[in-house]
Amino acid sequence: MAETQAERLAKELTMEPKNALLKADDDTLSKALDFAEGYKAFLDNAKTEREAVKETIKAAEEKGFKEFEYGKVYNAGDKVYINNRGKSIALCVIGKEAVEKGVNISAAHIDSPRLDLKPNPLYEEIELALFKTHYYGGIKKYQWTAIPLALHGVFALKDGTVKEVSIGENENEPKFVINDLLPHLAQEQSKRTLNEGIKGEELNVLIGSHPFKDDKGSNLVKLNILKILNEKYGIVEEDFLSAELEIVPAFKACDIGFDRSLVGAYGQDDRVCAYPALKAILDVEAPEKTAVAILADKEEVGSMGNTGLDSDFLRYVIGDLAKMQNGDGTIAIRNSKCLSADVNAGLDPTFQDVMERRNASRLNYGVVVTKYTGARGKSGTSDASAEYMAYIRKLLDDNNIFWQSGELGRVDLGGGGTVAQFIANLGIDVVDLGVPVLSMHAPFETTSKLDIYMCYKAMYEFMK
Ligand SMILES: [Zn+2]
Repeated sequence: MAETQAERLAKELTMEPKNALLKADDDTLSKALDFAEGYKAFLDNAKTEREAVKETIKAAEEKGFKEFEYGKVYNAGDKVYINNRGKSIALCVIGKEAVEKGVNISAAHIDSPRLDLKPNPLYEEIELALFKTHYYGGIKKYQWTAIPLALHGVFALKDGTVKEVSIGENENEPKFVINDLLPHLAQEQSKRTLNEGIKGEELNVLIGSHPFKDDKGSNLVKLNILKILNEKYGIVEEDFLSAELEIVPAFKACDIGFDRSLVGAYGQDDRVCAYPALKAILDVEAPEKTAVAILADKEEVGSMGNTGLDSDFLRYVIGDLAKMQNGDGTIAIRNSKCLSADVNAGLDPTFQDVMERRNASRLNYGVVVTKYTGARGKSGTSDASAEYMAYIRKLLDDNNIFWQSGELGRVDLGGGGTVAQFIANLGIDVVDLGVPVLSMHAPFETTSKLDIYMCYKAMYEFMK
């Protein structure tokens, strides 16, 4: 049957978003599946920002990246990294053009919501030993009870040595747990609001029950735990005061669904963008403009601190690169462009009413470009310009990258922010681009393999 005029016009003029799994060819689909295997391994090896930096340095050095030396001159194609206190990192591939003409930046964050140990965490109650915690980032506290937990982090000792801790990840290692009340006795707890269902001071982690065998003394379970920690790490109780210890879910990353199209794991916000950013910069060879991938800490608490992106770290990185060529860092920053790689909330079939469907991102519809985030009247967003959105649209379409537009929930409901605003404050054009996530900030989050691969492709084409 011949096409009607209306059908022809509709094809020309209207926009019809389509599931990218229906558009992708076999080669793209198989590359997306392969990419997810590396991603899952990265998630299992990098559950904290410190571990993500370590994994990043390992992968970067294998690809010829060297630690940046201030004062040394680097040439087009040279690859360097700048390690910021082991918690955030910038990877740079020097371009053929002068740095002063601008650099292309991909920025993602490698911290995730979790439970930090308090400075004085260890105590004993009714002959059980526990850790006090302080949650980090936005969590639904009740989700952290009755699941297996692992402990990661460091003790920094007064003599300058740093002891690394990772317990609960291997099959034969013990795990930890936050206990919840049995339903039979939860009548009063059930009347609490969801937010108060488990309170912050109830997020206490069970870590042992075996008392040190002695007929004298008190707190013998706690004492026995200290004895074990002393033997393993050479620490005493006071050393918790100079430690950064994080409680994270002990789950491994895995496929979700009979069709294995999805990934389930802890910490996908924002390692689902950090891993593609890392893989993209590792694949960049001799770009026109210098490419910079920055993996930042502290996004989940507002990007504060000297390892967050509200610091001058990025300014110094670009400044140092420009200075090396006797260029001006401020001019370089002004000429730079950025993809702020962060997740967005995917439309959840069970909770669709928190979104406005025409503008919500969906799993398997490709990498999501989010022009603005923020809350209420766009409060706290940098809002990308129309001109920059046009530049990104063209880049994605020209390179056959499946993408969609998204926003963070329906107007007046809530909202959130990303690192984009801090990069925009420097005078850099920036837009959020990332992967839609279900159950964002939960101990176990869900993403689509094809979206993840499209995120990689977008960042590669942007930086190459
Ligand atoms: Zn987040």
